[in-house]
Amino acid sequence: MPQRCYGEEELANLREVLESGELWRGLGYDNFTARFEEAFGAWLGREYVLGVCSGTCAEETALAGLGLEPGDEVICPASAPIFVSLPVVSIGCIPVFADVDPRSLHISPEGIEARISERTRAVMVVHLWGQPAPMDEIMAVADKHDLKVLEDCAQAYGPLHRGRKVGTIGDVACYSLQQSKHISSGEGGIVATGDPEIYKRALLFANCGMPWYGYGLAAPERISIAGITPRGHFAFGHNYRMSELQAAVCLPQLDKLPEFDARRRELVAVIEHELGDVPDIELAHVYPDTQPNYWLYPVRLPAPLGNYAEINYLEHVFQTMQQQRRTSLGIPLPNYVQYVPGACPNAEAAAKRFRAINVHHSQEPETIRAAAQAIREDGASK
Ligand SMILES: *Cc1c(COP(=O)(O)O)cnc(C)c1O
Repeated sequence: MPQRCYGEEELANLREVLESGELWRGLGYDNFTARFEEAFGAWLGREYVLGVCSGTCAEETALAGLGLEPGDEVICPASAPIFVSLPVVSIGCIPVFADVDPRSLHISPEGIEARISERTRAVMVVHLWGQPAPMDEIMAVADKHDLKVLEDCAQAYGPLHRGRKVGTIGDVACYSLQQSKHISSGEGGIVATGDPEIYKRALLFANCGMPWYGYGLAAPERISIAGITPRGHFAFGHNYRMSELQAAVCLPQLDKLPEFDARRRELVAVIEHELGDVPDIELAHVYPDTQPNYWLYPVRLPAPLGNYAEINYLEHVFQTMQQQRRTSLGIPLPNYVQYVPGACPNAEAAAKRFRAINVHHSQEPETIRAAAQAIREDGASK
C-alpha cells in the first residue's frame, strides 16, 4: 500500500481556511502562512523566513534580497534544474556556468574560481540530490572574492554539513514545496535568511514593493506627492505571495518530515544493498563530514549509460541567448560568457554517467528494488 503523504491534519487546516473565508495571507500575521514561516524558521534555525508561491519564485526573491543589479554576474552550477539559472535571468542578471565535481555533479570551488570576473556578485550553490555541497571550500572562495552565497535547498531538507543544517551556511537559502520535494503543498516556496536587510528586500520583491514586514521590522513612512498619499509600493516587485491554502497544507507536512525521512532512508538502503558491490557501478559520492537526506539517489555507471539531462546552457533557451548575445531580458552578454558545448567539460562528461532513482517517501521498496536491479543489469551488459 503506498504511503500516505497527506491526511487529516492537512484536511482540518484546509477546512479552517475555507470556513474563515480568508484564503490569502493579506496583511495579517495571525494565519497559517505566518505559522508556517515561524515553524520553518525554528526547524531550520534561521530568523527570517518568507513563504512564497513556488521554489522558482523563491530563487528570484532571494536573488532580489541580495540586492543584485542588472548586469551583475551570478555563478551557477552547469548541472542543475534550470530553475536555478532562469531566476538569475529574470532579475536582469547574467548566469555564468561553472564546471562541477564529476563525482557528484555539484558545483566545484575550482569551477567557481575559474568564472570570477569584475562583475561577479553571487554564487548559487545547489545541494543536489539532497547531498550537501563542499561548503567550507565554496565559502572560502566566496569570502576571498566578496561574493554572496545562495543555497538552493529545494532538494535538501535537513542534510547536515559538519553537523549544521544546509541552508544556514550561506547568506540566503531557498526551498521548494512542489509536488516532488521532501514536503509539499503542490506548489510553494520558502526563502530563509539570518539577515533582516535581505529579508526586507526579498519581501518587497515578493509583495509588489509593499513593506508588510513581519518580525516587528518597521516599514518606511508613506510620503504624500501632489496632495495624494500613494498606497505604498516602495520597490519593484511581483506578487509571489504564498496563499493560505498552501500554508494550511505545508504546515503539518513539516511535522511529518522525520517520518518521511525515515522512509527515504529505508529506500536508500534498498538501493545500496542492490548496487553496493556491483563492478562498474558507483554509489553516491558523499563529501567528508556531511550527512545527506536524499531526494533522488544518484549512481554512476560507465559512459554512455547515464541519462542526466539538466546541463542548463545546452537548453534551447540558453542557445538562443548565445545566438543573440543577450539574455532573454535584453542584458548583453560579455564575450567571456559562452553558452557553448564544451563550456563545462566535467559536467558534460559526467551527465553521460549519472542515473538517479527517485526515493520519494510515497514509493514502495519493491519499486525501488526493481529500479536498482534494472540499473544493475544495464551496468553489467555494457
Ligand atoms: C524543484 C527545484 C527548484 C524549483 O522549485 P519549483 O517549486 O518547482 O519552482 C529549484 N531548484 C531545485 C534544485 C529544484 O530541485
